[in-house]
Amino acid sequence: MMIKRIHKLEKFIANKIAAGEVVDRPASVVKELVENAIDAKSSKIIVEIKEGGKTYIRITDNGVGIHESDVEIAFERHATSKIRNVSDLDSILSLGFRGEALASIASVSILELITKTRSSDAATYLELHGGVVRERKEVGSPSGTSFVVKNLFYNVPVRLQFMKSNVTETSYISDLISKFALAYPDMSFRFISNGTIIFSTSGSSSVITNIANIYGKEMARNMIYVSKIREGMALQAYISKPTLSRGNKQLQVFFVNGRYVKNKIISEAIEEAYKTLVTINKFPICFIYLNIPPNHIDVNIHPTKTEIRFNNASAIKELIVTTLKNKLLEENLVPNVNFEK
Ligand code: ADP
Ligand code: MG
Repeated sequence: MMIKRIHKLEKFIANKIAAGEVVDRPASVVKELVENAIDAKSSKIIVEIKEGGKTYIRITDNGVGIHESDVEIAFERHATSKIRNVSDLDSILSLGFRGEALASIASVSILELITKTRSSDAATYLELHGGVVRERKEVGSPSGTSFVVKNLFYNVPVRLQFMKSNVTETSYISDLISKFALAYPDMSFRFISNGTIIFSTSGSSSVITNIANIYGKEMARNMIYVSKIREGMALQAYISKPTLSRGNKQLQVFFVNGRYVKNKIISEAIEEAYKTLVTINKFPICFIYLNIPPNHIDVNIHPTKTEIRFNNASAIKELIVTTLKNKLLEENLVPNVNFEK
C-alpha cells in the first residue's frame, strides 16, 4: 500500500493556523467585527466586553445584515461580498476584502451570530464551536447583526499565554474604538466594559465633540482644524497648538480613506511641520484625515491592513507639511522669520 506523505490539511485545522495572522488578541477580534459593522453601513455600533474581551465580546450593529442564505458561507475562508475580481483590489473602499476574519475568529472561539436583513421576516441565529456549526434556528430580532465571541482561544492554549491583564486588554480595545469613533464621526459608538459604559459618541458628525467625549474638553479646546484639497487629495486635520503635546506619539492618529493606519510618511510630515515648535521628546496631538483615490494606495501589504503604501508619497508628505505649517503660522503660533533681505 502506498503511504501518502503529503496531504491537504483539513479545513478546520487550516483555518485555525491562518487565524494566527488575523486574530492575536481580543482587540483584533473587535477590530475585524467593527470593520464589518462599518462596511455594513451601520449608523450605530455597540461593543460590549467582559474581562478584557477574553471571555466575552459582543458587537451589535444596525447595518444591512447577512442574508439567510449567506449566513454559513460567510464563515468560509476567502468568502466575501466586498470584492469579486482582481481588478477590484485597485478600488477598495470597504475596510474588509480578504474574507478571512469570520473564518478565523470562528475557528478559535465559541461564536454566536444573530442577523437579519431589512427584507427578511425573521432573524437567523447561528452558533459555531471552533468553526463548526452547532446550531441554527430562526429567532426574532431587529434588522442588523450581532456577534458574540465567547472564550477566545479556548482551543489554542498557547495563544492564551500571550494575553495580557484584563486591564491592558481593555485599554487596547478602548483605544481602538476611540479611533473608529474618530474615523467615523457620523456613526454612533458605545463601548461597555463589565457592564459600565466607558464612552459613547452620538454620531453627530463632529470630530471635535468626539475628541471632547473621548479625551476630555480641555484637549478639544486646544485643537486647531485645517483642511486642504489638492490634486485629488483631500486633507483634514485636527492638530494641537504646540503648547499641547505628549511624551509619545500615541495621539498622532491617521485615517486614510476611513481606514486607521500607521504610516511613517505622515508621521515624518508632522514632525517637519512642528519642527522648532515642540521641544525634543515632545509630540503634538494630531488627527489626520486623508482621502485619496484608492488606486494611489496599496492596503494589501499586511493581513491586519493597518499598514499601507502610497504611490505618491512625496506629494502627500508635501501636502501635509505645508498645510499644517501654514496653519500654525496663520494662528501666529510660529515666530514669523523673514529670510529675504
Ligand atoms: P470581509 O470583511 O473581508 O469580506 P469577513 O470574514 O470579515 O470578510 O466577512 C465575510 C462576509 O460576511 C462579509 O463580506 C459580509 O458580506 C458578511 N458580514 C460580516 N459581518 C457583517 C455584518 N456585521 N453585517 C453584514 N454583513 C456582514
Ligand atoms: Mg471583514
